[in-house]
Amino acid sequence: MATSPPVPVFLIVFFIIIRLISIVGKLSPWTSTGSLPHQLLSLEMANRLHIDSNATKLASTDFGKLVQANPIAVLYPSSINDIVSLVKFSYNSPNPFTVAARGRGHSLRGQAMAKNGVVLEMSSLKLSSNESGIRVSQNPSLGFYADVGGEQLWIDVLRATLEHGLAPVSWTDYLYLTVGGTLSNAGVSGQSFLYGPQISNVYEMDVITGKGDLVRCSKHMNSDLFYAVLGGLGQFGIITRARIALEVAPNRVKWVRMLYHDFTAFTRDQEHLISINGLDYVEGSLIMHQSPPNNWRASFFSPSDQLKINSLLTKHGIIYCLEAVKYYDDLTIDTVDEEIRQLVKGLRFIPGMMFKKDDSLVGFLNRVRSGELKLREKGMWEVAHPWLNLFVGKSGIMEFNAAVFVDILHKQNHTIGPILLYPLTRHK
Ligand SMILES: Cc1cc2nc3c(=O)[nH]c(=O)nc-3n(C[C@H](O)[C@H](O)[C@H](O)COP(=O)(O)OP(=O)(O)OC[C@H]3O[C@@H](n4cnc5c(N)ncnc54)[C@H](O)[C@@H]3O)c2cc1C
Repeated sequence: MATSPPVPVFLIVFFIIIRLISIVGKLSPWTSTGSLPHQLLSLEMANRLHIDSNATKLASTDFGKLVQANPIAVLYPSSINDIVSLVKFSYNSPNPFTVAARGRGHSLRGQAMAKNGVVLEMSSLKLSSNESGIRVSQNPSLGFYADVGGEQLWIDVLRATLEHGLAPVSWTDYLYLTVGGTLSNAGVSGQSFLYGPQISNVYEMDVITGKGDLVRCSKHMNSDLFYAVLGGLGQFGIITRARIALEVAPNRVKWVRMLYHDFTAFTRDQEHLISINGLDYVEGSLIMHQSPPNNWRASFFSPSDQLKINSLLTKHGIIYCLEAVKYYDDLTIDTVDEEIRQLVKGLRFIPGMMFKKDDSLVGFLNRVRSGELKLREKGMWEVAHPWLNLFVGKSGIMEFNAAVFVDILHKQNHTIGPILLYPLTRHK
């Protein structure tokens, strides 16, 4: 079984502690903002352009709550044509203005904002357009796929595709993000070692370019546009439709978490698990007194498990939690437990510190939602989120642990949110 190809990259996701560098960069700003509202209001879709402070205030902030940028107007498009008209208007204007698509504004540092320009509130397409939605199909060359509007939420894509017994293969940890938003970033999660990020699982897109042309693109058709838009932070066009790869969906998952105090053993076991066949998801996280075991994500550990973890924390300071999932269905229900036993055989977690859960596919994929709702109740969702994602080469990960996790976070006792840490293969 175990071959060990090199695994050179670890993804580290810091929540709360470090400021993300700014990556906002937009087209030329509107220079004489005073006349823009007037000119915009002469457009055909003027009734869907809002210049009132309620609309502009909402679009001037995001989930990060670190920066603010006021647009002149917010367009609530009722059709793709509304967006085409607006972008064309800007392109043909002597003073083109910034146009930014906003999915749900879960960006951290203004990436979906348009200072002195126009924000496109993509969710309004979902409410009133017949042009997008979620449609499941099949053809001989691609197999199953879904054509999905850029404004759609991944949770809705999951629900719609499951009605056909199908699902996308690559996810983010949280599903209340839009297809256009995550495809403009990457969409990285515990399935990425197997399938690559979400942007590697797109067959084709319809994109409104900076000139206002609606262009179809894929690996083989307008490929420059295709690759620029994927991961392009909305700078190369607006995704109105994406064709997403689907596979037959499992019903349920076996979900395990194993605890380590030795970082070397933890990372080696993570690398090992993504180098063999068998698992469908591998992630990991840090547990500290300042970042407790059920921090933020779905409760996994029972109160008695948490007591055990607390005594480990008192002894070791930091505990590393390796998280793995195997999907199963009616055909594999009788063998899945034995398969898990074989997969974790020989791993070097702390004896007795393996915890298991059996869940539905939706329960597992939608695991952050319950944490979100709890935080919302406590008023702790709508707060600043200076998060950071880092890809760290394998050669630097031990040093990173010693300098950042141990010396800074643990020894200096900083208050922090969850920290995820998991391996990816460079070729994916
Ligand atoms: C709780 C939480 C958990 C997360 N977990 C993960 C994770 O596991 N993995 C991961 O990769 N990311 C994760 N993210 C980050 C997520 O990918 C980004 O927040 C992303 O910005 C998606 O959010 P959004 O759909 O609200 O898009 P927005 O923030 O509104 O937009 C993001 C960017 O995409 C552009 N954009 C939006 N729609 C379109 C469109 N239709 N066409 C072209 N450009 C568009 C915007 O202009 C902007 O540049 C998480 C975010 C949160 C809040």
